[in-house]
Amino acid sequence: MTVTNQTLNILVADDDETIRMLMQVALERAGYRVLIANDGNQAIQLFAANTIDLVMLDVSMPGMDGFQVCTWLRQQVGNELPIIMVTGMDDVQSINCAFEVGATDFIAKPINWSLIGYRILYLQRAYLNLLALKNANARSHAIFSAIPDTMFIISDEGEVFEVCSRQENTPWLPARAGENLKRYLPEDIVTRYLDAVELARHHHGVQSFEYPLKLAADVIRYYENRIAVIDEQKTLCLVRDITDRKDSERKIFNMAYFDNLTGLPNRQSFLERLEGEIQRAKFQRNKLAVLFLDLDGFKSINDTMGHTTGDVVLKWAAERLQSSTRPSDFISRNSADRSEVNLARLGGDEFTVVIPNLSCTEDALLLAHRIRETMRRPFHLSSRDVVLTASIGIALYPDDGEDAEILLKNADTAMYHAKDEGRDNCQFYNANLTLQAEKRMHMENDLRNALENDQFSLCYQPQFDIARECIKSVEALIRWNHPQQGIISPLDFIPLAEENGLIIPIGEWVLRTACVEAMQWQKDGLFLEMAVNLSPMQLKAPDFVRMVLDILAETGFPADRLVFEITEGALMERSESTLATLHTLRQYRIQIALDDFGTGYSSMNYLKQLPITNIKIDRSFVCGILNNKDNLAIVRAIISLSKNLGFAVTAEGIESLAQAQILKYFGCETLQGYYFGKPIGLKEVIGVAEMRWLIQAVQPSEVTYENC
Ligand code: C2E
Ligand code: MG
Ligand code: MG
Repeated sequence: MTVTNQTLNILVADDDETIRMLMQVALERAGYRVLIANDGNQAIQLFAANTIDLVMLDVSMPGMDGFQVCTWLRQQVGNELPIIMVTGMDDVQSINCAFEVGATDFIAKPINWSLIGYRILYLQRAYLNLLALKNANARSHAIFSAIPDTMFIISDEGEVFEVCSRQENTPWLPARAGENLKRYLPEDIVTRYLDAVELARHHHGVQSFEYPLKLAADVIRYYENRIAVIDEQKTLCLVRDITDRKDSERKIFNMAYFDNLTGLPNRQSFLERLEGEIQRAKFQRNKLAVLFLDLDGFKSINDTMGHTTGDVVLKWAAERLQSSTRPSDFISRNSADRSEVNLARLGGDEFTVVIPNLSCTEDALLLAHRIRETMRRPFHLSSRDVVLTASIGIALYPDDGEDAEILLKNADTAMYHAKDEGRDNCQFYNANLTLQAEKRMHMENDLRNALENDQFSLCYQPQFDIARECIKSVEALIRWNHPQQGIISPLDFIPLAEENGLIIPIGEWVLRTACVEAMQWQKDGLFLEMAVNLSPMQLKAPDFVRMVLDILAETGFPADRLVFEITEGALMERSESTLATLHTLRQYRIQIALDDFGTGYSSMNYLKQLPITNIKIDRSFVCGILNNKDNLAIVRAIISLSKNLGFAVTAEGIESLAQAQILKYFGCETLQGYYFGKPIGLKEVIGVAEMRWLIQAVQPSEVTYENC
């Protein structure tokens, strides 16, 4: 049915001819086109044969009355057709009846013929509004069904007022009015809904958020919810399943950042990651290493066996790389073990590895060697076995470059250098580093075997008691008899042993050997004190005291003749557990000497609170006392302060009589140094112990030239 504003087709049905005529004249004058029916049946025929926009029915007509016609019309065309019943004045029953059969309005007789046109005009406007509303509803409905969203209206508390549209098979989205969102969604997501409602209310805008919903153990779907306020109580929620979009985004991300063949991060991703790690290293003042790896001879696999085989080999190589760079595969002290190593494929047969938080350069070399070893295992192809080696270049931040591009370039250069060195090789960008790091690495390997292979020995340096004019104790000093390199100084291997934890078994060996050997002198009637050096790490070992007591019990060496020498550094940490250990040792009457005193920063005030018995003044001060007034003053002050605090004082590094004389003058009690004896073997100790030295106390100003 079409309606225009200008001309309505009005069907008038009345059995009263006068009324019919008057109605026709009045309506036509008002601009309407009029069709006239004498009774109900004729009205139906005319309606069927014409386009009618409005019907006026007399309630009482012969045959079909107005109510029957109205009922019929409603059945045919629904509610949209305006139907006006013409009733008698005061005929309330007819008016009610007209309402029940669906009439739009009524006009009571007698009819005011001059106003009838206006009545119709007003009705027409209401009718047009009704139609517009209906159209709007139809449009909304079409939109609801076209949009792939589930739409519902909720209250600020999450009560569902209305479900406007709903996608099929979404039992986790509201289905019925009157329920609460909580019935459908987990609490945290409901909270996000309600928060968004509140925000939308505050900002008068559309709020949106995304959320994942776990539908089964391995099924997660993603949703986007847009929220718009309707009025003070109601808010519209549009929920869209965006799982497919998320999947595509992930795919696009993977394509942009990951290598298709191996699944490893690609060049772009690597550079971004490296730049991030560099920023972090800069901030934390850390080092990092970039390893650039190239498979030797990979090109010939591609050339001779085809690209498909080449791809398979690359995939396997990537898997091996992954397994060899996995943290758990490293020995524990390696810094690569403590931070996540980043692996990437740059393209072709080129791979990169970043080690953030590099604590020492050897860690990079160790990892490179580990990778090389893993690569070297044959790849079993169906036709034959292939052995691939890797050349690896290493660049360090900040030494070899401060941005990602430069580090990568320098690692690449180092890799070419590794190839030049005969492939299956690894080189630092700075060639010197390769030598140093390799040396240390070999030493570490050898150190691991040294205990088992009995390559350690102890020598003893006498400590001279000024008052008794003879040796009262010895300091046990470890030596490593390396099968190729000969004797190696503890200064060269103790720091390494401290780094890799080997100091614990080595330290135990030193203590046991020193006690066993001291007991041999005791058998010969020589009762010497034994000074043994300790590393801070030993003191921190949980079973350290137990170990010491076991060795003393095992060997029979008396606790009060054992002196542990610890350096200032060990105490500067002020660790509670170290202090507790020292106190326990003192309870067993073991003496504790502060070694190399003066090289650290301990204040006498702090030392006073520590359970130490002796102070050993460092050699660097002693050697300067003859020609450096400051050193002289420092040594004098240390001795007098130490004695005031009740510490026994030993001076180290005495190489001349003059030094000994001055130190005696200052009141130092024990002297140690080459003047009294270099570190010597077990058997020589007895001979030295029988020697006597007479040292005269001499003021510094009176020291004669020949004594120096
Ligand atoms: P330290 O405990 O201060 O030992 C004294 C070092 O000074 C010894 O060197 C000794 O040979 C040297 N020395 C003694 N008198 C003189 C002298 O008059 N002139 C000169 N130039 N040097 C003198 P060594 O044996 O090479 O030991 C060096 C350091 O290695 C020791 O310093 C100690 O810190 C450490 N060390 C040695 N043995 C052990 C050990 O068994 N365990 C631990 N943890 N550290 C040890
Ligand atoms: Mg010492
Ligand atoms: Mg010392």
